[in-house]
Amino acid sequence: MEELPLRPELRGRTAYGAPQLQVTHRLNTNENPYPLPESLLADLGTALAEASRGLNRYPDRNAVDLRADLATYLTRTSGEPVGPAQVWAANGSNEVLQQLLQTFGGAGRTALGFTPSYSMHPIISSGTGSGWVDGHRRADFTIDTAAAVAQLREVRPDVIFVTSPNNPTGTAVDLDTIGALYEATTGVLVVDEAYAEFARPGTSSALSLLPGRPRLVVSRTMSKAFGMAGLRLGYLAADPAVVEALQLVRLPYHLSSLTQAAARTALAHTDELLATVDAVKAERDRIVAALPAMGLTSVPSDANFVLFGRFADAAAAWQALLERDVLVRDVGLPGWLRVTAGTPEETDAFLTALGEVAAAHRLGEGG
Ligand SMILES: *Cc1c(COP(=O)(O)O)cnc(C)c1O
Repeated sequence: MEELPLRPELRGRTAYGAPQLQVTHRLNTNENPYPLPESLLADLGTALAEASRGLNRYPDRNAVDLRADLATYLTRTSGEPVGPAQVWAANGSNEVLQQLLQTFGGAGRTALGFTPSYSMHPIISSGTGSGWVDGHRRADFTIDTAAAVAQLREVRPDVIFVTSPNNPTGTAVDLDTIGALYEATTGVLVVDEAYAEFARPGTSSALSLLPGRPRLVVSRTMSKAFGMAGLRLGYLAADPAVVEALQLVRLPYHLSSLTQAAARTALAHTDELLATVDAVKAERDRIVAALPAMGLTSVPSDANFVLFGRFADAAAAWQALLERDVLVRDVGLPGWLRVTAGTPEETDAFLTALGEVAAAHRLGEGG
């Protein structure tokens, strides 16, 4: 068979994606398991029917109304004034990140992120032709600010990713560290806050650092706390000049009229949608509290998931849980697995299954 003339950096690669298996308890992709409120479903029907009447026309290329609604949401929940000119939206925050890399990364340029972190950051970087450098973390997965600053000064990346709360480890990064990283670089610093709504009390958003920092970007998504992963709506807040720069690479009409209408309708139901966040956080904390009795531990979590371990062989523990109809995520960190916090019933099922397998799979004393 003749080989396709793939770009060299794509040869031999396999496509990214968590297994989508038919399992009763799917706790592997950090979605919100709660069904959407009936009142929202009714309003979506009306709004989408209305928007459909205009489907013969291209959508609002600048998504002006949606960006105003997102700005209002950020201002209301963070207490930081964010205006529509500071907001940009796309099909999932993954597309937002891709547009950032197309604008500020690309051929001959370098992106850096502190691994282990969101695996899409290096993948989107290579997809846009940007080089990738792994930033370092301590063994407990926290960022050593002094070491990170030194690495940024040496590597001089064009785009820097900080995921806060971090995925897959769960812990938020403090604002002093983010401020220090910003000062240590002339690149664009992207704080990926996909899980911001789940943070423990006292954890502040990097939105408060935006004033006076024109190279700082905060990205958010409706896929996690809002429970709208199927909608594909991500967004960012930054200096208006960043939003203007992104216009150079965004495809015209990238956000369909249906997406814009559905997202605006969902934002009008923000309070109902986010009402499940406290319930999910309670389940997260219940998982964390149950682990020590099984001889297991976790990494402090500000997200809707828990990195738990340690196991002698994480892949074997993952398989044992799967055999008990519980699907968690093997994120490739030796000894650790990640579980999404959802409903009380899901926590019950997870803890029961884990109770059955923990003794056989946990890392032995002194191991
Ligand atoms: C889930 C996740 C996203 C969300 O991506 P979408 O494209 O908005 O669904 C972004 N960043 C991180 C770190 C995530 O875990």
